[in-house]
Amino acid sequence: MNPYYHRARFLKSAAALDQLPPHEDAREVAFAGRSNAGKSSALNVICSQKSLARTSKTPGRTQLINLFELDPGRRLVDLPGYGFARVTQPIRVQWQGLLTQYVETRECLRGIVLMMDSRHPLKDLDLQMIEWCRSLELPVHILLTKADKLKHGPAKQTLFRVQKALADDPGISTQLFSALKREGIDTAHEVLDRWLDVPPPETTA
Ligand code: GDP
Repeated sequence: MNPYYHRARFLKSAAALDQLPPHEDAREVAFAGRSNAGKSSALNVICSQKSLARTSKTPGRTQLINLFELDPGRRLVDLPGYGFARVTQPIRVQWQGLLTQYVETRECLRGIVLMMDSRHPLKDLDLQMIEWCRSLELPVHILLTKADKLKHGPAKQTLFRVQKALADDPGISTQLFSALKREGIDTAHEVLDRWLDVPPPETTA
């Protein structure tokens, strides 16, 4: 467990790109996924904090990009969840527009952590997200969330199935993850360390 991530602090919410902090000399990793995939829970356990990202949300309200700072210039970014069928069309357009603009234009974005419920991975919108990142040459690390809901064997089979489906792309990696059981945190930290260029623990603890 890398204590570096405990220092994450809410920095700001942005409803439009011009509200984001400067991208120069910065590195960001963005967390994305379908609504309810377990993104807020994953962010919270990765940062060892109970309520850094909000886990209960009201569907239908305008969504924001939430930024969490680790260091000046190193940030974790919580993107609006996609695919919530019940939100109204104008809100969907607003937040998917924001998500699209952020991913396509943010120069300091180093990679996307993509949450997928391990019981229903690779839904259409997830595949679209992966294809889109591929086209932008943006690395993707997939967390197969809520792995505690599957027994060991089926969880491993899901991991192999997803890895096989995406095997031809070296820019994509996949792991099992459970916020509830706190499993998979070290592997997630290793990916974040690499993307954010986090100094070794002895200099950051
Ligand atoms: P988000 O919409 O992607 O931010 O998802 P949340 O983090 O709010 O989680 C959605 C639901 O899944 C909540 O009811 C969580 O309690 C539940 N959940 C999230 N992570 C886990 C997990 O690791 N195991 C289990 N069993 N449930 C989880």
